[in-house]
Amino acid sequence: MNNKLELYILGGGPAGVALSYYAHKNNIDFKLFEATSQIGGNCRTITDGDFKYDTGAHRLHDKDEKVTKLIKSVLKEDLLKVSAPSQIYLYSKKISFPLQLNNILNELSWNDLKQIVFENTFNRIKPQKTFDNFRELAYKRYGKTLADLFLINYTEKLWGTSADLLNVRVSGDRLKNLKLSSLIKKNILGSKYKSKHLEGSFYYPKHGFGTIFESLKNGIEKNICLNSPIKKICHKNNFIKEIRIGDKKTIKVNQVVSTLPLNYFIKILDPPPPEYILKIIKSFKFRSLRICVLFLNIKSFSKNASIYFPDKKIPFTRIYEPKNRSKYMAPTNKTCIVIEVPCDKKDQIYSMNENKFFKRIKSTLFDQKLLNPSDILDQSSIKIPYAYPILTSDIDNKISSVMKYLAVFKNLKILGRNAKFEYVHVHNLFFDSNILINKYT
Ligand SMILES: Cc1cc2nc3c(=O)[nH]c(=O)nc-3n(C[C@H](O)[C@H](O)[C@H](O)COP(=O)(O)OP(=O)(O)OC[C@H]3O[C@@H](n4cnc5c(N)ncnc54)[C@H](O)[C@@H]3O)c2cc1C
Repeated sequence: MNNKLELYILGGGPAGVALSYYAHKNNIDFKLFEATSQIGGNCRTITDGDFKYDTGAHRLHDKDEKVTKLIKSVLKEDLLKVSAPSQIYLYSKKISFPLQLNNILNELSWNDLKQIVFENTFNRIKPQKTFDNFRELAYKRYGKTLADLFLINYTEKLWGTSADLLNVRVSGDRLKNLKLSSLIKKNILGSKYKSKHLEGSFYYPKHGFGTIFESLKNGIEKNICLNSPIKKICHKNNFIKEIRIGDKKTIKVNQVVSTLPLNYFIKILDPPPPEYILKIIKSFKFRSLRICVLFLNIKSFSKNASIYFPDKKIPFTRIYEPKNRSKYMAPTNKTCIVIEVPCDKKDQIYSMNENKFFKRIKSTLFDQKLLNPSDILDQSSIKIPYAYPILTSDIDNKISSVMKYLAVFKNLKILGRNAKFEYVHVHNLFFDSNILINKYT
């Protein structure tokens, strides 16, 4: 091995860019290899004429002081503090999200309300701390009625998996403080009540979420190799020796950090890993996302940051309107909406031709009376093949076996959402990147 430290970062999504930023700051030589022509991974901002939109409803959660400070220092006045409410659209009813007591009292039936109070009082008398799967967590923490109305359908649609088989970690910070007791406290304390969930106010860059990564790239462009898909990882004696970029170029490597999807990384190892690892990896599934973007000849579609659709008859889970995050995302008298359709790569809706896909989404919006056909100016669609790792309740032992196997490579580290098969957010990736880079210094 060459003794001079050189870091080879595989993948230019948020994790790869954060690693590059901290490596540069710590005077560590590095090269980043990104398969596509743009950095940002699943957090890109796309410009289409006068409109801008992100590849999914992204926002910077203000959950890590140091990370927020870093991004503020880079974007300066281009980082906006946004406070926009969200909504749940359920059987033609629009319910505020995070749930609000008065809204729930108005929108739900007397029977449902009685059940919710009864179940939540019972849960408080017999609180449970550990849960085997998401359904158990949702029922025990929020009561069956509240969970069935707002959590179970939505979660099953998002992950494409029964709530009985989903890991409790899929709830992330989304559900914190959504308990009935929190609703009551919030009603009494008003703005003094500090909530821990991820809805409400957040930071957002003036020109789209992807500009965080584009801005961090400034000054380190020469170390970033775009259009450089990693095709093979050659190893010997517990060291990664070489990586193959594209079909022809092979380079020797020193220290490697992979942010590539875990199953892909394992599959391109040469020589291949033991059979038991290949077998585990086969069971790892990623959820894909197909996004439909509609450009509208109206000033505003809604006032919401996001609108959630738990009803399984509706093919999408969420609509977001970029303009409600920053007015610079669309012209003054026009807007656009981004509609997220979670699916599997083998689902018909993922592979159907664009016209059919647009027709399917638009007809749902027209049927629900959420949009008029005459308001649509144009449309676009994007496919995101590795949107989320599907965390099933039996995943932890499998991940730890794979990580144990990868730990034998002395010059390899793994970081990133799909690389570690973790349900993490951008601020977590910056935090982890900083820690990892400090280990090399
Ligand atoms: C719809 C949606 C909404 C989200 N909302 C939020 C939010 O509001 N806030 C938040 O903090 N997080 C959010 N997230 C999560 C966030 O997008 C991820 O945490 C983040 O993108 C993970 O970054 P990453 O670098 O680990 O992986 P990725 O973003 O997947 O990046 C991986 C990179 O590796 C590249 N790559 C893949 N294969 C190769 C190869 N063979 N060779 C070279 N390069 C390769 C890819 O092109 C990509 O650029 C959301 C995610 C989705 C899908």
